[in-house]
Amino acid sequence: MALFNNKNKYIRITPNNSIYQSTPRETPEVPDELFAKCPACKHMIYQKDLGLAKICPKCSYNFRISAQERLAITVDEDSFEELFTGIETKDPLHFPGYKEKLAKTREKTGLDEAVLTGKALIKGQKVALAIMDSHFIMASMGTVVGEKITRLFELAIHEKLPVVIFTASGGARMQEGIMSLMQMAKVSAAVKKHSNQGLFYLTVLTDPTTGGVTASFAMEGDIIISEPQALVGFAGRRVIETTVRENLPEDFQKAEFLLEHGFVDSIVKRTELPEVIGKLLAFHGGEK
Ligand SMILES: [Zn+2]
Repeated sequence: MALFNNKNKYIRITPNNSIYQSTPRETPEVPDELFAKCPACKHMIYQKDLGLAKICPKCSYNFRISAQERLAITVDEDSFEELFTGIETKDPLHFPGYKEKLAKTREKTGLDEAVLTGKALIKGQKVALAIMDSHFIMASMGTVVGEKITRLFELAIHEKLPVVIFTASGGARMQEGIMSLMQMAKVSAAVKKHSNQGLFYLTVLTDPTTGGVTASFAMEGDIIISEPQALVGFAGRRVIETTVRENLPEDFQKAEFLLEHGFVDSIVKRTELPEVIGKLLAFHGGEK
């Protein structure tokens, strides 16, 4: 039986019924970076055809993009000034392997945390900007994410700037326990202060925006835009279905469902976002 359990070997039977093993046939290797499989329509897409905005040409699915890619398709060229880098978590729970995980993720993503913060111009409008990146520990919100976004709002209050945040998150950073949940209140207080100054705050929900981020600053924008088909919610579908003992609609927690029910102001195509954001910023007291 050992012969049949060994998945690494191919088993062949010759015409005279003798059995022998052969090594696996070599499959032609295709470099990962050449093709991407669309998670929605499952087509293999030639990377070049996705374009900078990374939209599936077959079904218009918006691929998840990195903070750097978002920056490149959103802000005016060379206008981004990164701020609040180098803030380190105190690793309050001394969570096993957390520091190593952070170090590895930093190297892999080229980001120092799950949110990129700074000042930029979008269609000529000055803005305090935050972009969350789901490739960084699922853009979970720990103390550093909370601190960076809070500082961004404080800067915006000081310099009388509007704030634009591209949200993405899997929820709280479990490695930081209760300290993660405290960030919800901390950031919300900063949002309120900014709002009290009559300053404009725009959130752009991207796939996926969930958990504590949805329950705080993602849904606190003066205007809330979403990318098409983005998953936006608090708890996961299974948790809710088990709790309420009811089946939920198929499109539940999709941006389109939220728009229909008044939780989102508009769904805007990724390629049209800079134009729309620029107009909104100009309309809400930006530079003429
Ligand atoms: Zn597709």
